[in-house]
Parts: sequence; structure tokens; C-alpha cells
Amino acid sequence: MFNKIEHLGIAVSDMQKSIREFELLLGKKCYKTESVLSEGVKTAFIQVGESKIELLEATDPTSPIAKFLDRKGQGIHHIAFDVNDIESEITRLIENGFELIHKSAKPGADNKLIAFLHPKSTSGVLIEMCQEKSS
Ligand code: ZN
Repeated sequence: MFNKIEHLGIAVSDMQKSIREFELLLGKKCYKTESVLSEGVKTAFIQVGESKIELLEATDPTSPIAKFLDRKGQGIHHIAFDVNDIESEITRLIENGFELIHKSAKPGADNKLIAFLHPKSTSGVLIEMCQEKSS
């Protein structure tokens, strides 16, 4: 089951500047920064009510975020939905003809298991599913 928008991912070119901007905008402090080496990305999270803003900065020039920034510049990169059972959602979506970038869940930032759908299946929007790791 899809529950809520867990976070919005925003690609940024200067993480420290963007953290300051969003902290000031939202009146809240960034509670975590974390690098995901496998994705070549550094993340920063700010909680807003039930959802979060995830800032994404490339740490590797060949990473997906670096390519996104080259192509489109800074801006909204993906919408992430909280799901109860990511593996069963992956199976359900494949059965329904969606194209998945990850056909099984993998570790993401912020203690999550994640999988991305290809934007050509979802009206041009990159969609992430994430499930809180139980441990
Ligand atoms: Zn995300």
C-alpha cells in the first residue's frame, strides 16, 4: 500500500547554500546529512510535518544527480512515497506494466529500502518508493 508522500527530492548544486535556504524558508533545522556512495550522492533531510525535503548533491560527476543537474539544472528531482511492503509493490507494478529502474529494493538514505520507477511509466515524473527498514 502507498501511504503518503514521504519526501520530495530536490537536486542542488551547492548543498551548504541550499541547506541554509531551506532551513530559513521552513524555519526548521536539517536533521541529517548522509552520503550514499553507490549513488554518488550526498543527501540532507529537513522534516516538514509528515513529509521531508531531501536535498541531493552529486559527489561523483558520473552519478545520476550530476547528469540531472547537467541536463536540467537545480529543481525537483523525484517524489518519494512511503510504502508498507516494497517488494510486493515492485511485483504489483511490474505486473501492471510499469517500468522499474530497480526490480528489487536496495538500501537508500535515511534508513530506507528504496526502488525507483522509470519516469516514462509515470507521466515524466521520477517516482521513488521507500520502506522504513525494520532494524
Ligand atoms: Zn529520495
